[in-house]
Parts: sequence; structure tokens; C-alpha cells
Amino acid sequence: MNLIFLGAPGAGKGTQAEVVSDTLGIPQISTGNMLREAVKNGTEYGLKAKEAMDAGALVSDEIVIGILKDRIAQDDCQKGFILDGFPRTVPQAEALDAMGVKIDKVVEIFVPDDTIKKRVSGRRVCQGCGASYHVEYKPTKVEGVCDKCGDKTVVRKDDQPEVVLDRLATYHEKTAPLRDYYEKQGKLVTVEGQEEVADTSKLTLSAVGAV
Ligand code: AMP
Repeated sequence: MNLIFLGAPGAGKGTQAEVVSDTLGIPQISTGNMLREAVKNGTEYGLKAKEAMDAGALVSDEIVIGILKDRIAQDDCQKGFILDGFPRTVPQAEALDAMGVKIDKVVEIFVPDDTIKKRVSGRRVCQGCGASYHVEYKPTKVEGVCDKCGDKTVVRKDDQPEVVLDRLATYHEKTAPLRDYYEKQGKLVTVEGQEEVADTSKLTLSAVGAV
């Protein structure tokens, strides 16, 4: 099964994509995590991506499409995958269609902007493996330490309040049109983000037919 997860920054799409990935045993492909890794390693495209990411803007379609294409060609994607954070623009969605990638469902995790602004300040990410947490809704077992790999959890640079506003604006302008794009293809399902992460997960798993 090939799935896309859509959602405004801070809506919890990454967390839900991870739950579905663990349940279905197919990889979660987060272009955000791949780009952060590239920035950390100082690769050529990491250097190009950094400025846009720090400003809450999007990295160029050309770079992101290239990364994605290489990733989904790998062996572990042959039985299906979950795209988390891609596509983020209509040209990226068109590129997927042009590659002949068949998408079964597009899951939108919907959370109103006001709630997002409150939530994002509590978000933490592991600086080692990229796993995501929230101090209130999805805390690590030991404060500041990743449950999965034991590395340190930190606040993402682009989770600072001013940058979040820019990321939300970018989402509404560039990414929200994808709702229409996939609605027309009959693939869009919307899951309303709940107060409790576990409740959203139940709705998400049912939306993809995993329970
Ligand atoms: P995320 O972790 O999904 O919130 O992504 C973090 C940042 O990486 C975004 O704010 C963008 O700057 C960049 N990014 C991730 N995925 C994409 C994409 N598909 N297209 C363009 N930029 C992206």
C-alpha cells in the first residue's frame, strides 16, 4: 500500500505516519528528516536546503523530487511506503504521477491553526534518529533522551514561534491545494487530530483500513 500523509506543520502527521508504518510494516519516508540529515552532514543539497528550511520556506521542487525518487527506488519500498511531508506542492504531486507511482490513499491530519500554534512549542525531535516527541502529548520515557536510540531530543530550529507562522502560511499557500488535487482523484481522507495522540491514531489506522 502506498500512502501520503498531509498536514500542517505541527498537526501530527509524522507521528501518525510512524504509527501506520509500525502497524503495516512499510517504511515511513520523511523528506523533512532526510533534508535535516543532509544539512547535518553538510552534503551539497543539504547546504542548498538549509536556508529555506531555517526560514520556514520550502526547499526547491527539483531537490526534493530528486531525493524522493532515489529513496522510493530502494528495495524496502517495493511492498509499499508512507510519504510523510511529500508532496508539498502541486508540481511535486504531478511529478509523482509522472513517475507512475500509484497512490492508494492520502490521509490529511487536520488540526486548526490556533491549536497548532499552541502545540508546536512542546515539540521535540531526536537529533540522532529524527524520532518526534511532544513534552505533553508524547513525552520520552526519560526527559530529553530519545526512547529509540538514546540520543538527545531537541527543539527544531524551525519550531520557533516566528518560523512556525511562516511555515503555516507556506502550508496554506503551497500545500493545501493538494487537498483538492487528491479529492478529485477520490483518494483524500481527512482525520481530525484529537487531544490525545492515541485517539488520533485509532482514527488514522481505521482510515487506512489497518484495523
Ligand atoms: P517537516 O519535517 O516535514 O516539517 O519538513 C521540514 C522542512 O523541510 C520544511 O519546512 C521544508 O523546508 C523542508 N521540506 C520537507 N519536505 C519538503 C518537500 N516535500 N518540499 C519542499 N520542502 C520540504
